[in-house]
Amino acid sequence: MGVGARLGEDEEVLLALPGDLLSVIEEFSPGEGVYEERGMVYSSTVGLIVRDMEERRISVLPLKQDPPMPRKGDSVLGVVVGIRKDIAEVDIYQVEGARSFTNPYKATLHVSEVDTRYVERIVNAVWPGDVVKAKVLLLRDPYPLSIKEKGMGVLLAFCTKCRYPLLLKGGRLVCFMCGSHETRKTSSNYMLKWGSVEARLIKNLI
Ligand SMILES: [Zn+2]
Repeated sequence: MGVGARLGEDEEVLLALPGDLLSVIEEFSPGEGVYEERGMVYSSTVGLIVRDMEERRISVLPLKQDPPMPRKGDSVLGVVVGIRKDIAEVDIYQVEGARSFTNPYKATLHVSEVDTRYVERIVNAVWPGDVVKAKVLLLRDPYPLSIKEKGMGVLLAFCTKCRYPLLLKGGRLVCFMCGSHETRKTSSNYMLKWGSVEARLIKNLI
């Protein structure tokens, strides 16, 4: 019947979860965020239960709304999903510090935007499956990205041969499963640095 959350002395706001039985139809008619089944009114979302006593209508005000879309200059987190010619295709899952998107936004990373130094081929900087932190250059679909800045780039990369996560050791990415060395434009915040707790945990798994 919903989880009670007391706000004040005599004020009780009820939170409904999807499928919660809220009322019988004789008592309240269904409004927004609810559905009726065999004379019963259920919540269809996570939200606050609102009873309109005059209209005898019950609704659920959804709490969860999709976070705002990425904007120019935003720092975003995404996954490389494909490579074509000089461009990496990236799915943006989150604006840094905000909630993640239900459906990712499409973005592109051109080889000229991966490093301050000249990079000949995009695969020398990113590879499908890599988790990247990037900056949104323009508000356009797909979003053009850049990983030139120091903090930007690959946060986590996987071995192209055996798909194990790569460890960053002495500025190089090493696979501890197959011994392969790989090249990426890594972020200064790369997640698996040699000697870090995370790296030791992963090594223990292997
Ligand atoms: Zn490997």
